[in-house]
Formats: sequence, C-alpha cells, structure tokens
Amino acid sequence: MARGILVTGGATGIGLAVARHFADEGETVVITGRRQAPLEAAAKEIGATAVVCDHTDPQAVARLLPRLPGRLDVLVNNAGGNTDFDTPAGAAEETGGDGGDGATPEALEAFARAFRANLDANLLSAALTTKAVEGRLAPGGAVVSIGSIAADKGSGAYGAAKAGLASWNLGLARELGPRGITANVVAPGYIADTEFFRDHLTAERRAQLIGSTAVGRAGTPGDIAGAVAFLASEAARDITAQVLNVNGGERGTR
Ligand code: NDP
Repeated sequence: MARGILVTGGATGIGLAVARHFADEGETVVITGRRQAPLEAAAKEIGATAVVCDHTDPQAVARLLPRLPGRLDVLVNNAGGNTDFDTPAGAAEETGGDGGDGATPEALEAFARAFRANLDANLLSAALTTKAVEGRLAPGGAVVSIGSIAADKGSGAYGAAKAGLASWNLGLARELGPRGITANVVAPGYIADTEFFRDHLTAERRAQLIGSTAVGRAGTPGDIAGAVAFLASEAARDITAQVLNVNGGERGTR
C-alpha cells in the first residue's frame, strides 16, 4: 500500500528532491510552499498534490489538515532557510556585527525581527506542523526534519534555530516512540544546486567550503533525499532521536 508523505517546502531544492524520491517509489506525496506557481509546477512534474501553506502561520497549518491523505506515514519538515538572505541590505546591517551603534531602539527592533524570522522559519515551522499532524501519523511512521551544518558553526539566529531543531527533536522522539514512530534530523552540509549555494556564495567561498570536505565536492539534493528515505524506511525503525550529518565529512565532523 502506498504511504502518505508530507514534504514541507517541497517545490524547490532539497524538498523537491525528497518529494520526487518518494513519488518515484509510488508513495502518495503532498508538497507545500508559500508561492503557488512554483509549487503547482513542481507537483505536476513529480505527480504530487500541491497545497499552499505558510508553516509559520498556525491558521494556515490548521487549514492544511483536510488536504492531507487520510493515512499519514511520513512528515518531512524541510521548509526553512536562512531568512537573513530575505532581509533588505540596510535592515540586515542593523542586525549587528557592523561595528556601528547597534543599541538604538530601531536597531534593536530590526535585530529582534530578523532573529525571530529565523526562529519562526526554521524551528517554529517544524514544531507547529508536527503538532498539527502528529495525531494522524500511522504506527511505523517517521518524522524527519532538515537541520543544517550551521547548527555547529555559530551561524547566528539561523544556526541557533537549527540547533534548537535538533534539541526539540529529542523530546519529539520520546513522545512518539511509544507509538512506533521515529523522529530524526538530517543535517546537510553544503548542497550544490540550491539557491543558497548558487546565489548567496561567491565562487571563492564555494571553493573554500568544498575544500573543507573530506570528499572534495558539495553534496546534492539527491544525497539528502537518500538519507531522508532511509530514515523513513522500515530498515531504520530502531533509529530515533538522532542527527544524521550528510556533509561529505566536512572538517570538524570527520
Ligand atoms: P530552498 O529555498 O530551495 O527551499 C526551501 C523551500 O521551502 C522553498 O520551496 C520555499 O518555498 C519553502 N518555504 C520556506 N519557508 C516556508 C514557509 N514558512 N512555509 C512554507 N514553505 C516555506 O532551500 P533548500 O532546498 O536549500 O533548503 C531546504 C532546507 O534545507 C531548509 O530547511 C534549509 O535550511 C536546509 N539546508 C539547506 C542547505 C543548502 O546548502 N542549501 C544546507 C543545510 C540545510 P516558498 O518560498 O514558496 O514558501
């Protein structure tokens, strides 16, 4: 019987590769995202159902529930990313580190907004979505959340949110364990073919990061999909409360 799979943020990058992997295996896949056009295009391409949803918004997450398959086996909390890249350059500078006066009320407001945006996008979104659907998860099911190497790098609010995700996952694993449901985090390293790697890093920085891996290359969204699929499989039924680093043996983790 086909499993029911929800991949949040499944229209692009890693989420799309994960959703495609499950769809290719004949599973019933729902993908979400905030922008309708790319979401529907991706769903059509891979044979999934598209549901527009902002996973930081409790009302929107509640509206998602009736659109899910009756039986949900796997939740992949993938929606997220470093929201500092969405911040206009001026506001981003006000968030600190520029040596200027960061303690004006306006600067502190901007800092708080930027910090909260990262926590909401990368931590609250996963917790909220899981809270909404956990009652629907079938025995033998799995929750896989996408963390990041940034959790171990001192990468500001984004890294803190991803570190928080790993901590939150420990409690989730304890909560779901008695129902035979696993909860794990896959923490990617540097993933080529994603907007982050393509648009937010200089060629020098990309080369530097690739040079810091043991394998001498960036990972691919497909590498992450393989790890997610494994953790969502019967073969991984005794693996829970873990962070699986998929980062080519990046320095510090090898
Ligand atoms: P993308 O920007 O390609 O994908 C993120 C997807 O999530 C988009 O489709 C976006 O669609 C959706 N999304 C973002 N916020 C929300 C939201 N609030 N509600 C619903 N959908 C949302 O990024 P990646 O594929 O690179 O990243 C996927 C995950 O992997 C993220 O959690 C990221 O932090 C993590 N990661 C990525 C790495 C990399 O090198 N690329 C490295 C380590 C971790 P829309 O904008 O339409 O909502």
